[in-house]
Amino acid sequence: MCYAIPGKVIEIQEKTAVVSYFGETKKAISELSNLKVGDYIYAQGGFAIKIIPEKEALEILATWKETFFDLQETDLRLSRMDLEKKRIDRKAGLIFDKVLEGGKVTDSDLLYLLEIKNKETLELLYKTANFLRQKHLKNSCCVHGIIEFSNYCSQSCSYCGISTHNKDLGRYRMTKEEIYDAADQAINKYGFQALVLQSGEDKSYSIDDLCEIVSTIKSKWPCLIFISFGEVGVEGLRKLYKAGARGLLMRFESSNPRIYGELHPGRGLKSRIEHLEAAFQLGYLIITGGLIGLPGQTVQDLLNDILLTRRLKTEMYTFGPFLPHPKTPLAGMPPPPTKDVLKVLAVSRIADPVNAKILVTTGFETLESKARELGLMAGANSVMLNVTPEKFAKNYAIYPNRAHAGEGIQEQIDSTLALLYSIGRAPTDLGALLK
Ligand code: SF4
Repeated sequence: MCYAIPGKVIEIQEKTAVVSYFGETKKAISELSNLKVGDYIYAQGGFAIKIIPEKEALEILATWKETFFDLQETDLRLSRMDLEKKRIDRKAGLIFDKVLEGGKVTDSDLLYLLEIKNKETLELLYKTANFLRQKHLKNSCCVHGIIEFSNYCSQSCSYCGISTHNKDLGRYRMTKEEIYDAADQAINKYGFQALVLQSGEDKSYSIDDLCEIVSTIKSKWPCLIFISFGEVGVEGLRKLYKAGARGLLMRFESSNPRIYGELHPGRGLKSRIEHLEAAFQLGYLIITGGLIGLPGQTVQDLLNDILLTRRLKTEMYTFGPFLPHPKTPLAGMPPPPTKDVLKVLAVSRIADPVNAKILVTTGFETLESKARELGLMAGANSVMLNVTPEKFAKNYAIYPNRAHAGEGIQEQIDSTLALLYSIGRAPTDLGALLK
């Protein structure tokens, strides 16, 4: 679990620490050589990140205590299932009953749910997913920060606005110092404990450069670092893990090899999946998923995307809508309707109820202004805020009119906290900032 409020270590078994949060216990892998029972720590994504002084921890916990239980109560109230089943599709109703009783849901059940059209049945699908999220993962909501440090990319993915197709984009590359400043600000000024470092596939940064960036940030300001630089090869992944990276964000975009091949000239799905599998074997937390609404994509493809995400032992599911960019070969193709994205989030939760963190992507927020609330009430439990300096962020234009463009970091945090509090979620990555 991503808990960035301080937790107290109550037990240590070899490399695993048992951490208590107001009596709720979680496990965290510890790479901290001096960790002992009684210490207070920040843990993220199942990793103990850093020890914090007891006095500081107790002060933060005092501000959290009441809010922690208030939020839990709100979440519990909002996630209760009402049993009103008027106008509900009968077969879907039986599947929901099975899900709620903890029965095994088959692939054909999941496919059936992805094909729901009836409005009332869709509402019940979202409610069921939200109920499962609350039951298994409580009200914790991961809030990670993302720094997009270069919009150069050597690839020609046919949906992507920073691909080689876009000749009109102002390109930027942040220097190492600019990246460190952005990380320092995100961690020390705004309280993020988990950061994603992202770029296009930009060969200007060698693997050694990337390792230096990761290890410098990690040694100066301990945090959980996810990397997202595209395909860096297994050796690259190994070096980056050694440098301190502990998570990999890399979507496979489509589990259909034909669609994958059409979208990614010169690349194959096999290599993508090999990267993800190798990263998992090396110990990385995996963030992956696909695009919804791609030209030629079927409902069966979407189901296969969810099943592949589950098979890859994914820590965080990231499914976003295909959004056509005018400077790409797919310009003019239609994006999917909001309900298709919500269905995928909800069915992902039903397919992987106990472990999945499910992200509401910025892409979804670009498609639908209420996406965050809708997604969080349909099984999702994670958001990512953009902590790239504003002067660069506007040019990370993977799709047009990106949500939150032009918003400052504090503005994003304030609106995120307001939303999370209103629906009873604990923004645990921003614990120290709780007002
Ligand atoms: S999707 Fe990723 S690899 Fe493809 S063009 Fe965009 S940034 Fe580059």
